[in-house]
Amino acid sequence: MKKLLLTFLAWNLLATQALADTPRLVLQITIDGLRADLLDRYQENFVKDGFNYLRNKGVVYTNAHYLHANTETIVGHTTLATGATPSVHGMVGNVWYHADSGELGYNIEDSDAPLIPTRKEKVEGAQVDPAQKRARSSGRSPRGILAPTFSDTLKIATSGQAKIFGISGKDRSAVAMAGKTGTAYWYSTDSGDFQSSSYYMKAYPQWVEEWNARRKAEQLGGKQWKLLLSRDKYRPGRVDDRPYEVDLKGYGRSFPHPFGNADHPLFFTRVLISPEGDRLLLDFGKALVNAEQLGQDDITDYLSISFSAVDAVNHFFGPASLENEDVILQLDRTLADLLSFIDKKVGLEHTLVVLSADHGMAEMPEYATELGYQAGRWFSDEILASARQASKTLYGSDQLVKDFFRPYLYLDGSIIENRGLSRASVAVALAGELAKQPGISGAIPAAQASRGNPTGAAAAVKHNHHPLRAGDIYIFQQPYWFMFDRGAIAAMHGSPWGYDTHVPVMFAGKGIPSAQVDRLVHPIDVAPTLSALLRISPPAAAEGKVLHEVAGN
Ligand SMILES: [Zn+2]
Repeated sequence: MKKLLLTFLAWNLLATQALADTPRLVLQITIDGLRADLLDRYQENFVKDGFNYLRNKGVVYTNAHYLHANTETIVGHTTLATGATPSVHGMVGNVWYHADSGELGYNIEDSDAPLIPTRKEKVEGAQVDPAQKRARSSGRSPRGILAPTFSDTLKIATSGQAKIFGISGKDRSAVAMAGKTGTAYWYSTDSGDFQSSSYYMKAYPQWVEEWNARRKAEQLGGKQWKLLLSRDKYRPGRVDDRPYEVDLKGYGRSFPHPFGNADHPLFFTRVLISPEGDRLLLDFGKALVNAEQLGQDDITDYLSISFSAVDAVNHFFGPASLENEDVILQLDRTLADLLSFIDKKVGLEHTLVVLSADHGMAEMPEYATELGYQAGRWFSDEILASARQASKTLYGSDQLVKDFFRPYLYLDGSIIENRGLSRASVAVALAGELAKQPGISGAIPAAQASRGNPTGAAAAVKHNHHPLRAGDIYIFQQPYWFMFDRGAIAAMHGSPWGYDTHVPVMFAGKGIPSAQVDRLVHPIDVAPTLSALLRISPPAAAEGKVLHEVAGN
């Protein structure tokens, strides 16, 4: 009897200990477009408590790579959120052919979940995101995500008690991380407000109305993005202006970058393409933590913050630009501000922090060429024309090819059927022709993409292949080649190559040691590791492993 009582007491003690160790908040930070090596390059100008909080106090994985080929924002975020690859979670690209309508559509578009209006109607010309332009309605929801997220799993494990939020400069980054059970808010390039959709709520809570009423973004009217440090502090070889950088109608290619007046159609977009976009997101995040009282009790809450400025800056100026170095140095200060705020409100000892990125970034092909690595640009219309030409040569008609939206070429099934041909064999024949083009590294037909145990880039294409959403041929470029739509884009990600798949993965929190780990790991490991730390089951479709350096054996 005595022994039994002792055993019970010991068990009870352990259970109490476990409860005391359970973090009050999981803070998941994602930096859109942050290639992992850039952190090492800029280290000497970082402050003590930004990136260095994680680098000095946590486990840092230096060799983390995505497994999927289409290294884009929704694909990476959903992979981090679910621990699954796009072949399972279904977010195969920012844009794909939606089978129900037979049209190209945006990943999180949902006409049944209209935006909840803030102050301004849509501003003509404010939208420069080529993926969002493909959306057929302004409604947004996570309904198209086919697997539960870590945040969903936490919600379910806590019987609905956990508070779950995802916020970002971009809609898709907020929506993916909040999952189906959380609430997402994102920045509007029409108004500078943070907005949400009817999927999440009927009307904005008062704190959101109040934050938007302060018109923080508008106060940047007439101001400029200036260098944080004196010019000589930046890395050698950083040139402020290259002829192939993009000037966004007066935003300029060199410092200082003027935002223009607040009534300019591109004003709120320019703010997002600067360190101010990240600072606004943090300011909104602080208001959220205060109003929703995150991390104030023993039930673990979840907050995802996805910073969008690094990616936006990369697209216009490239990752080797002075702008890239500056936006990351300023983000480092923003992170330090975030962590010190969380320390005051929740306590960093009660907070599990994880940081990663949704994808990396390629250098601009002209820059690679300048350095002696010959590369060029393939525009979407040229690839489509090239596929149509091949169709004409092989079958006497270009009508067999329906459309191209990177990374997939889509065939017209009914025309192929009417001509008595097999869709699969047409895909194989066209892929063979496309693969001969200079600058194209691979063209993989769907039937081939889903079979066998391929290696290298072909394996990455397989991880990207969802049977209902993948197109007929997956096309990818040779290293450093650009492949996307024409338009104001200097640099692009989205390839299966190392510069696009390499991202930081870092964990810090109570009980997590300080370590640098160089073995190969994958972002699908993040969600199962968070689950193990919280002693909950991994997200239902997670394919990743628990990272033992973080969560023990
Ligand atoms: Zn991007």
